[in-house]
Amino acid sequence: MSQLGTTDNPLLVAIVGSGPSGFYATEALIKSGLAVKINMLERLPAPYGLVRNGVAPDHQKLKQAILLYYKIAESEQFSFLGNVTVGRDLTVEELRHTHHAVIFTYGAESDRKLGIPGEDLSGSYTATEFVGWYNGHPDYRNREFDLTHEVAVIIGQGNVAADVARILAKTVDELKHTDIAQHALDALAESKIRDIHVIGRRGPAQAKFTPKELREFGELVDCDPVVNPDDLVLNEASKAELADKSNAGNLKVYDLFKEFSERPPSNKKKCCHFRFLLGPVELAGDGRLQKVILEKNALAGEPMKQSARGTGETLELAAGILFRSIGYRGVPLPGLPFDEKRGVIPNTDGRIMENGAVIPRLYTAGWIKRGPTGIIGTNRADSVATVESLLADLNTLDASNKTGLHGLVSLLDERKVRYVTFAEWKKIDSREVELGKPKGKPREKFTYVREMLEIIN
Ligand code: NAP
Repeated sequence: MSQLGTTDNPLLVAIVGSGPSGFYATEALIKSGLAVKINMLERLPAPYGLVRNGVAPDHQKLKQAILLYYKIAESEQFSFLGNVTVGRDLTVEELRHTHHAVIFTYGAESDRKLGIPGEDLSGSYTATEFVGWYNGHPDYRNREFDLTHEVAVIIGQGNVAADVARILAKTVDELKHTDIAQHALDALAESKIRDIHVIGRRGPAQAKFTPKELREFGELVDCDPVVNPDDLVLNEASKAELADKSNAGNLKVYDLFKEFSERPPSNKKKCCHFRFLLGPVELAGDGRLQKVILEKNALAGEPMKQSARGTGETLELAAGILFRSIGYRGVPLPGLPFDEKRGVIPNTDGRIMENGAVIPRLYTAGWIKRGPTGIIGTNRADSVATVESLLADLNTLDASNKTGLHGLVSLLDERKVRYVTFAEWKKIDSREVELGKPKGKPREKFTYVREMLEIIN
């Protein structure tokens, strides 16, 4: 048997999920200098995961990561098989049988739960569904959001909450030249929302926004950021946190809140209120959301480790629509172990583990490996680390010849699965760009899988 990773016996790797971590793992494998072939499987016909479906449409610069992924995908060592669901169309065992190694990079597509009464009342939504909806994700295409209320509440103070608040706050003119899905733009044009409350369970020194994202609230055409100066008084531990050099981002965020709190009132139509130390304890209403019951919190603990504790004092906020934006959560994939508590695939340095032992030849990277944290670029180092583990294991892998792409395609053909190649995706992509042109948009996304397949059939 020839050495694995040579032209006689190239290393065949299947990658499940086509978001940033999948592409960075591909890049690292190509850069290894070994003879490798990578077959990437994706549930949707369109690649790029959260860069296409999560990054906000008014953040086109962040979407430029796609240019790199496109270049990687053009490599002769790479094949894309879209519209294939692993766990349904192909099993994990089949991927393992046809490849020397498999890397799972399928992200975190579900959400954490608040676990409070009324969480699922009509009018209470997850940020995930709203983000998917305005980004034209086929799974969320047909969701409806009741935007007829004046007061909206967003629970959570991370960048996803910032995206949701900003999309609600912007005017149609600020959005119409982005790649926001047309159905969302039309619905937002009719929105009656005037007051948006973005609520943190901890204080202004602990908000998880990045400064760049928060700064945008000071530059909106028809929405003012509002912060109550009384809310910016810090306890000693928070002062220590902001004095710590490692926390420069939080200090910038705090300074922005301060700047917002000093702004004179203007006559803009909408207000985005940043509120702190409030924990949701109940969502209430007669059949649909009418009010949010919040408990005032106090911080307790060491600097950098402060947590929110309820004080027992509550207040009510009348609101007709609410978005829970408290973090994504990974979902299990049939045939793989899963850590229910953390919502990740159990692993050591990217090697998938079951009952304390490594499962040979199965690896993971990205959010499904470490949880939903960090920006797009964070996934590069994470994927490189996983690929390093895989390469360190090279001599221990089963080096027998595998069928790779050919094996996958035979199984898919047998099962009549209409997989989408990268060349076919490029056709769909060009069509989207063409459809966007007359509207001055970078693209008009297809939001139904069948529409995408019609282009290539
Ligand atoms: P996140 O940054 O982890 O923020 C989650 C927020 O929810 C925090 O404010 C957290 O408060 C709060 N929270 C969690 N559990 C809660 C509970 N039970 N009750 C009330 N509040 C609760 O998550 P994310 O906003 O979903 O973002 C995920 C990752 O994607 C982040 O790393 C983010 O930076 C990144 N992202 C980046 C961009 C961008 O670069 N433009 C855009 C979107 C997302 P605590 O701090 O108290 O836990």
